Amino acid sequence: MSRSPFRFRRRPSRAQSHNFLISTSIFFLVFISLVLLCPVGTKADPTPRPEYGTVIGIDLGTTYSCVGVYKGGRVEIIANDQGNRITPSWVSFNGDERLIGDSAKNALHSNPRNTVFDAKRLIGRKLSEPDVQLDLKHWPFSVTEKDNKPIITVKYKGVQQQFLPEEISAMVLAKLKETAESFLGHKVTHAVVTVPAYFNDAQRQATKDAGTIAGLTVLRVLNEPTAAALAYGLDKKGAESKIIVYDLGGGTFDVSLLTIEGGVFEVMATSGDTHLGGEDFDNRVIEYLVKKYNKETGVDVNQNQRAMGKLKKAVEHAKRALSTQQSTKIEIESFENGNDFSDTLTRAKFEQLNADLFRKTMKPVEQVLKDANIKKDEIDEIVLVGGSTRIPKIQEMLRDYFGKEPSRGIHPDEAVAYGAAIQGAILSGVEEPSEITLIDVNSLTVGIETTGGVFAPIIKRNTIIPTRKSQIFSTAADNQQSVVIQVYQGERGQTKHNNLLGKFELSGIPSAPKGVPQIEVTFVIDANGIMTIQASDKETGKSESITIKDGNHRLSKEEIERMVDEADRFSAEDEAHRKRVEQLNSLQNYVYGLKAQMNDREDLSASDKSILEKVLRDASVWAEDHGKDASLEVLEEKLAEIQTKVEPIGKNLFEDDVSAAGTDDSWRHTEL
Ligand code: ADP
Ligand code: MG
Repeated sequence: MSRSPFRFRRRPSRAQSHNFLISTSIFFLVFISLVLLCPVGTKADPTPRPEYGTVIGIDLGTTYSCVGVYKGGRVEIIANDQGNRITPSWVSFNGDERLIGDSAKNALHSNPRNTVFDAKRLIGRKLSEPDVQLDLKHWPFSVTEKDNKPIITVKYKGVQQQFLPEEISAMVLAKLKETAESFLGHKVTHAVVTVPAYFNDAQRQATKDAGTIAGLTVLRVLNEPTAAALAYGLDKKGAESKIIVYDLGGGTFDVSLLTIEGGVFEVMATSGDTHLGGEDFDNRVIEYLVKKYNKETGVDVNQNQRAMGKLKKAVEHAKRALSTQQSTKIEIESFENGNDFSDTLTRAKFEQLNADLFRKTMKPVEQVLKDANIKKDEIDEIVLVGGSTRIPKIQEMLRDYFGKEPSRGIHPDEAVAYGAAIQGAILSGVEEPSEITLIDVNSLTVGIETTGGVFAPIIKRNTIIPTRKSQIFSTAADNQQSVVIQVYQGERGQTKHNNLLGKFELSGIPSAPKGVPQIEVTFVIDANGIMTIQASDKETGKSESITIKDGNHRLSKEEIERMVDEADRFSAEDEAHRKRVEQLNSLQNYVYGLKAQMNDREDLSASDKSILEKVLRDASVWAEDHGKDASLEVLEEKLAEIQTKVEPIGKNLFEDDVSAAGTDDSWRHTEL
């Protein structure tokens, strides 16, 4: 396989800039001149980068995440410690224990208030955003605002603790990092992480921060649809092709229209529904089964959290089965009040329950075609992404609509991580360079505020990145000595409708009549979509700049450092907890093992037997009462103490089989 890292072709700047300026210059105080620089090429360095080590690719999903690595000439999607190739993006704080992934998702119904998911819906955002406000209502965990950022409060180790969405995502990333490390057998320090194409600057930066907190340098924040297309090697087809990436996941639906020509990727349009996915399909089935159960038994299980939890799990399982089978049995032991649940679900029923939701996904498909001004029969490839595209009905719908087969060969829920792993290999120089280039675009227009709250766009949405554009502005009043540059993101003419990213002041402008000073404002967006804005006074050369560290969501270096330390502390604590639990198991195993053997030994005298019985009984009681809270040292001492008492009696009797029980690792690991 041969590819080179991102390399950018020069493209003519977009025509709209010109028209736009003519129409809006009257709103500006004085418009002097416009300098549009072409996108700057960042020629990639094809040499191997051993300092990166193995660069892993991570799809950090809303509901599930996935990690892949390029090894031995191919991409490996790595299974976690539960043997699953996708890992729930969930973290649960259970007393003293922190669970991440599958075990966290399982804890939802026993510990809903301290089980956190959907961090991706919060990352890099403000609590006041309408979408976030709507989501809040559905989360069992507490989200409030602190320093203008959403913050999650959970009870952990007996106290209320607060975590930013970045920190929760960091815990998921750390889990995936560990998954990769145990597969590779060595440490991992660098990664490519994917985000939805529509993620704004703050969301991208916050995702990078999450990586840093997890101990990962995020070399590239890659768009998910681009990663999926990369996975299918669509960049290697010579002629121009037009691709629809249809990504139907657990809770979100994203459609992107990409064009690829000679290896150049361009996102032409994106659309979707932020609240449509596999969980909605599950819910339809759950509603149906709850109603049916109510009709048959007169019991409404809606309020029974535990029963609903079991049902939710069983239904998701059944749904997955129906992607390959025509019908499946749903059976739940002691569902409610000691009663079992048993029912059969057919694929036809599942499709009927979700028919309107499935159909709904076609609207955004039509929308991207319309936005990009492309007809459906011009589409060359349909790339399926997201676990829910495994549903046969979805595939059939797309096949019928486009009149061609969707792409096959890579599991749809793994395609994004697969592409990220390829990108990781490219960046680490494992891949051979070639003529292939890869282009992304910025997803929202960015610009600054001019007088009267008028938005002056500088870089229009869908401009190929990295990019750099400058424009000259001037003062609004005579002898004005400073200007405030307010950076906004959005598509509306008035800044009040757009999103303020940050602001800074340029002062020390020499006295002059209004409109005379020339203030050059330059926007630079790097390959990760991260932005720096500079304003400079042409006369004095004085300049000021900001890298959008959107004060509202971005973290300072100190904050990140603190979180990195905290993350390290948490994983050290997790490890300590694990050791303690193992030590307690050793102790209990030792006691049970002795008990079992004692009963089989006829050669044991009655008095020895009663001494032993007492020692073992005391040990069991102690383990019951104190085992859970005891420190590792106390547990070790306790085991040694019991062993010392047993030794004089057991010396001859149990020597071979039991004396080593407390320290034999293989013994305790066989237990579940
Ligand atoms: P995310 O949306 O977080 O990126 P995924 O793309 O992995 O996550 O999608 C997860 C969703 O896919 C879940 O709702 C899961 O139930 C669903 N899913 C996974 N496998 C299948 C399958 N075989 N058939 C139907 N749905 C599936
Ligand atoms: Mg996804």
